[in-house]
Amino acid sequence: MIRVNLSIANMYILRGRRTVLVDTGTAGTADRALRALAGHGVRPDEVSLILLTHAHSDHAGGARALREAFNAPVAVHRADADMARRGDNGRLIPIGLEARFSQRFVDRPFPPLEPDIIFDDDFDPGPFGLDATVIPTPGHSPGSVSLLLPGGEAIVGDILRGGIMGGALLSGRPSAPYFLYDLADRSVLVDSVRRVLDAGATILYTGHGGPLKRSAAGAWLAGAVSGQAMPARS
Ligand SMILES: [Zn+2]
Ligand SMILES: [Zn+2]
Repeated sequence: MIRVNLSIANMYILRGRRTVLVDTGTAGTADRALRALAGHGVRPDEVSLILLTHAHSDHAGGARALREAFNAPVAVHRADADMARRGDNGRLIPIGLEARFSQRFVDRPFPPLEPDIIFDDDFDPGPFGLDATVIPTPGHSPGSVSLLLPGGEAIVGDILRGGIMGGALLSGRPSAPYFLYDLADRSVLVDSVRRVLDAGATILYTGHGGPLKRSAAGAWLAGAVSGQAMPARS
């Protein structure tokens, strides 16, 4: 797995029998993503799939440009498909001060796109040349998903953040995402983190910062269950 830090968000390149891209950065970093892919020698004809962990602007913003460059289908969970179509982030409820501060920077429209593949809770990337399990992990957005590879590496999108300032500091320390789509349902997010750990993830690759060791994510989960890790809406 290759992690590419696209300024504010990570893109992942998975090379198996074919090459699968997970997340695409913002629209503004699409050129950077394309240069990084070229730099890693990814040929246009080897990319079989562009999978979005969720359809927020910092993960789906570059999808249209990458789809054009690689002529590969973009896959997104059904519950986030409308956000991709509209090119907006849907409902973002900021959790805490830092999130409220960052909202005006990150809550931007992005180039809308009609997803080529819309899946429910059972997407198998095997036919695209990737052995991995897609796990529904809602909470940060309704259609967030995580990807678990056979070696125990998981790409988890924004169900957790790694560190602060986009991972510039303390990148291995988990913290709650900046936004939930439904504050009343924060238990949905906590359950999603638990689902990834229960599935056997040994290391969690996050959309921002990271990666997170299983032990660190487990400690976060224990704190969240006891109500400490996720501050109430301020
Ligand atoms: Zn997000
Ligand atoms: Zn994000």
